[in-house]
Amino acid sequence: MSRKKSILLAGNWKMNHGPGATREFFRSFRAHPVDGAELRFYPPFLSLETAVSCLKEAGIKAAIGAQNLHAEKSGAFTGEISGPMLQEIGVQQVLIGHSERRQWFGETDELILKKTRSAIEQGFEVLLCIGELLSERQGGMTEGVLSEQLSRILKDPLCKAAFSDKLHLAYEPVWAIGTGVVATPEQAQQTHAFLRGLLARSLGEEKAQNTKILYGGSVTPGNFAELLACSEIDGGLVGGASLKPDSFQALWEIVALHSRS
Ligand code: PEP
Repeated sequence: MSRKKSILLAGNWKMNHGPGATREFFRSFRAHPVDGAELRFYPPFLSLETAVSCLKEAGIKAAIGAQNLHAEKSGAFTGEISGPMLQEIGVQQVLIGHSERRQWFGETDELILKKTRSAIEQGFEVLLCIGELLSERQGGMTEGVLSEQLSRILKDPLCKAAFSDKLHLAYEPVWAIGTGVVATPEQAQQTHAFLRGLLARSLGEEKAQNTKILYGGSVTPGNFAELLACSEIDGGLVGGASLKPDSFQALWEIVALHSRS
């Protein structure tokens, strides 16, 4: 069955680009709207408001999302940022479960479920990241690891209902993130097809088809067209290549070309 894709290209700036560098980025970044495709940026917290106003000034149609949020709405959680704070500055999208949060900040599947539930309850659109380690892929454990990362989410009625509307996935093999080693289109397509099947068994075919599954991990203008040509890949979550206006613009142009073909 051929899928009608709704493409999302999202840049994850991680701990890069403070407000000054954000203004600098948007001084040269340009992107025309593309039918059926969405452009999104995940800047660090401190640059969110700057990014929102730069987009407005430049007349660029794109969304700004946060890279994380706390599951509680307020309270004694020093150093954390809550959903209502993000919404106060116009942010409606959030990334949850990035492998760097899992690896360096001890985020477990249980905490990720809590954050995802809270974000959905507050009306955010969540891009939930999952992915296996190199040793897990080499050990033939990829499907088991991804199933486990999604198991709590797929048992939770609120999350289940949110898929295809307020909840989408980014498959990011950890061995491909920031390494320059990209998954082959075959590897990515096969894993995305597995994930789509997992969603279909739990949510039904229609919701599964309408849930975006992005690929992330060393995406560049040199490899993105091939990945996007895979029927199960609905776009890219991009780290390094989203930091420079020219490379991220080149990725958006690939989205535009794909959408026209
Ligand atoms: C990421 O951090 O989400 C990512 C995919 O990074 P990179 O594109 O640099 O591999």
